[in-house]
Amino acid sequence: MAARHVACAGAIQRVATGSDGRIVAIGTEERVFNRYQRRAIALRDGGCVIPGCGVPAGWSEIHHVTEHVRGGPTHTDNAVLLCWYHHRFLDRIGWQLRMNNGVPELKGPPWHGTDHRWRAATTSPVRLKKRAKRILTT
Ligand SMILES: [Zn+2]
Repeated sequence: MAARHVACAGAIQRVATGSDGRIVAIGTEERVFNRYQRRAIALRDGGCVIPGCGVPAGWSEIHHVTEHVRGGPTHTDNAVLLCWYHHRFLDRIGWQLRMNNGVPELKGPPWHGTDHRWRAATTSPVRLKKRAKRILTT
C-alpha cells in the first residue's frame, strides 16, 4: 500500500492505494497542519502557550487540543503551539488546555500557585500588544 498526498486547489488529501492501484483509503482531512495554518497559529500564539516557557514559534510544534484520533479536526480552532518538552509531557505536568471560540485557554496544575481558573493564553505578540495598550490607556 502506498500513501500519497494530493494537493488540489489549496487542500491536501491523503490517498492510499493498493499494489494493484486501487484506492484503499482517502482522507478528507489531513492530520498535519499546512503552512498557512501554521503561520496563523504562530501569529496567534507567538510561541509555546505554557506560561513562563518562552520557546518561540519557530521552535514550537502544533498540538491538536482534541486529539486527531478522537475526531479533533486539523483546524486552527483546535490547535496550539507547544514546545517539544511541553508537547511530550503536557499530561504528566498537569497543565490543562482547551479552546474557547478559537482562543486557547489554560488551567495550571495545583503546584503552579495560581487560582486554578481557565485563562486565555497570552503569549501572542498580537494579544500582548492589545493587553499593553489596554493597561496604558486605563
Ligand atoms: Zn513550552
